[in-house]
Amino acid sequence: MNLIIGHLYPDLLNLYGDRGNVIALEKRCHWRGIDVTVRPLLIDDDWSFTDCDILFLGGGQDREQEIVWRDLMHQKAAFREAAEEGVVVLAVCGGYQLLGHYYRTPDGKDIEGLGILDLHTVAGKERLIGNAVITSPFFDEPNTLVGFENHGGKTYLGSAVRPLGQVMVGQGNNGEDATEGAVVKNVFGTYLHGSLLPKNPHLTDLLLSRALKRKDPTYPLAPLEDTLEWQAHEAALRIAGTS
Ligand code: GLN
Repeated sequence: MNLIIGHLYPDLLNLYGDRGNVIALEKRCHWRGIDVTVRPLLIDDDWSFTDCDILFLGGGQDREQEIVWRDLMHQKAAFREAAEEGVVVLAVCGGYQLLGHYYRTPDGKDIEGLGILDLHTVAGKERLIGNAVITSPFFDEPNTLVGFENHGGKTYLGSAVRPLGQVMVGQGNNGEDATEGAVVKNVFGTYLHGSLLPKNPHLTDLLLSRALKRKDPTYPLAPLEDTLEWQAHEAALRIAGTS
């Protein structure tokens, strides 16, 4: 079994160690004997999204988002096709915002998004910063996801997406409706930096299992020894004050 992870704009969307998400996906494949190729997808590259099994976009400042947006708009149809075909996508913060209909910057400029996630984002007056804990319906116990958020954008979900979870600690999508993140098909968006996946092994394995099952529905995802990962998760819960 060989998985291809497309890492979009690793040189531009690279805030708060978000590349750690790609490392976590890669390692949890290697530890299971699954071959994995990480393919950096850069500005002006000739991409084939549907060749990838997982696509990752990290966080970025408004300036980098605008640079990425221009390039991504050329890839809009291809990206949407890949999402429709069930390619797994993880998008964090700035990358997440770009999957929506638009991101309105602090100076009122609308950065058009891919429209893959039914949501929009507007820059708020205050930045939403701090440790975050959510509960997610995508998992049985433990159903928490832990991370760190730092965004000026406030994201509002439409009816065609589900939240990734409900906020226990922190601000989530907008600091108003207690939602965090957004999911449709195999596309997962979230504000949780950290990086997210190393201390949320259950989310990493959810993404891997979705990608593997798309290639071979019978492929078994063997369990891993996750003591260290869950110790990191529990430490984040304690730091956030939930346990
Ligand atoms: N520039 C966006 C915002 O401020 C995203 C920030 C980020 O990726 N952390 O909301």
